Amino acid sequence: MAETLFSKIINREIPADIVYEDDLCLAFRDINPQAPLHILLIPKKAIEKVADATETDQALLGYLLLKAGDIAREQGYADAFRLVINNGEAAGQTVFHLHVHILAGRPFSWPAG
Ligand code: 5GP
Repeated sequence: MAETLFSKIINREIPADIVYEDDLCLAFRDINPQAPLHILLIPKKAIEKVADATETDQALLGYLLLKAGDIAREQGYADAFRLVINNGEAAGQTVFHLHVHILAGRPFSWPAG
């Protein structure tokens, strides 16, 4: 997979406000936050989008969801947060390294825009 902005953040080639890191994932604040809390959680494994994940990624995908909940809780938003994964350009994906948006701190309408 081609290098993306997010692989550069993983490799510390460009800076980011990192809030969590372990062997499998990295979480950092979105540069253009859409809510008082807006964190991007990414696997270190370069998967372009969720539709490209395979059975071998099953545990990793579950791990990301658990971590997203942990991070929201640690940031003080256990009660209400929204997770978003944009898959593909038409769905709003602009960076082609799978990422989970963790948004909190304001009301959210439904359906999502
Ligand atoms: P997508 O639109 O692909 O679902 O989300 C990409 C997100 O990456 C956007 O919310 C955008 O604001 C964020 N983003 C783009 N460039 C950077 C950057 O250089 N640093 C950080 N921290 N976030 C970025």
